[in-house]
Amino acid sequence: MPTRESKRDYYEVLGVDRTAARDEIKHAYRKLALQFHPDKNKDPDAAVKFRELAEAYAVLSDDTKRKEYDATGHAGVSERWSSEDLMRDFQFGDFFGGRFGDLSGLFGDLFGRRMRPGTDARRGVDLRYDVELTLEEAARGGEREIRFTRSEKCTDCSGSGAKAGTKPLVCPDCHGSGQMQDVKTKDNVRFVTVPPCLRCRSRGHIVESPCPLCRGDGYRFLPHTFRIKIPPGVDDGMVIRLSGQGEANADGGPPGDLLVRPHISRHPIFERHGDDLYTIQSVTFPDAALGRTLRVTGLGGETLRVAIPAGTQSGTALRLNGKGMPKVGNKGKGDLLVVVEVRTPTELSDRERALIQELAKLQLHDNETISGSQRS
Ligand SMILES: [Zn+2]
Ligand SMILES: [Zn+2]
Repeated sequence: MPTRESKRDYYEVLGVDRTAARDEIKHAYRKLALQFHPDKNKDPDAAVKFRELAEAYAVLSDDTKRKEYDATGHAGVSERWSSEDLMRDFQFGDFFGGRFGDLSGLFGDLFGRRMRPGTDARRGVDLRYDVELTLEEAARGGEREIRFTRSEKCTDCSGSGAKAGTKPLVCPDCHGSGQMQDVKTKDNVRFVTVPPCLRCRSRGHIVESPCPLCRGDGYRFLPHTFRIKIPPGVDDGMVIRLSGQGEANADGGPPGDLLVRPHISRHPIFERHGDDLYTIQSVTFPDAALGRTLRVTGLGGETLRVAIPAGTQSGTALRLNGKGMPKVGNKGKGDLLVVVEVRTPTELSDRERALIQELAKLQLHDNETISGSQRS
């Protein structure tokens, strides 16, 4: 899942050597995280900095992820784990001994996981997947196999988290609501806070005999392969939303969505502007002056003919209707614009030089006539 933003090296973020031992990494992270924790540091950049630290630590503190990062860098890591995966696998709250409480709100905001209004609060998390396409692939569309890790409902306990033959119990502390209500009265004003229930971790139930497969979570992180359909003409900035293909939710809510974002790589010959394609075609001065029909190759490899009219100026765009990119969700295609570039010869034979000198004399004569007539 390549991302385009430039990311700092994880070792640099934590200020440690590439050979640093686990403890050294942990120590460096703890020190910096305490310094930049948004609860303590009111600088507006602190949250971003904290997230960067957390992500670096999430990768470097895990042997598998660290190996992947050492071998392939950011690209390899983001190919295998989404930011959500990295953050979820890693228990921030535990790390600080509960000092900062639940950080999911913080990371939820940073990762765009915030609930949309009107959606089920128990809905699973949306996953994002970035897919790199060539311009040809974007034009053709078709299927693409993608692989990612997502949480899936445990098959052994059907998501309950309880061992076969047992049932989860309603949490005696919160009576199943997952929240504790705390009412304080001060100066005749009632303050009501609703912190999450710690006993059941907001789940509303507790599992006494956990399912051995998922260890009571009700879901497992599993590699998932999925075929996505790419509509012909897809472009940067579009999002392909696959309903229900995101993360499962352990508490019985519906799964989130999978959001696929295409990134179209630069093409050596064609430049895209919306549905139109531009290509540069260089022509000789005689062809531009006298006119000629040229052959150009379209994006799909087809041979196209383009008529260069006599007297075409360098920079003129000639339009080939319907030879551009397909329009998404629409019949029809954009256009191909062939931009003419008049080539100036750099190496001349004696004969060519003589002919151009002849031409120059003729044009010099013309110019004098014109400027002569203007002067009078
Ligand atoms: Zn299970
Ligand atoms: Zn509870």
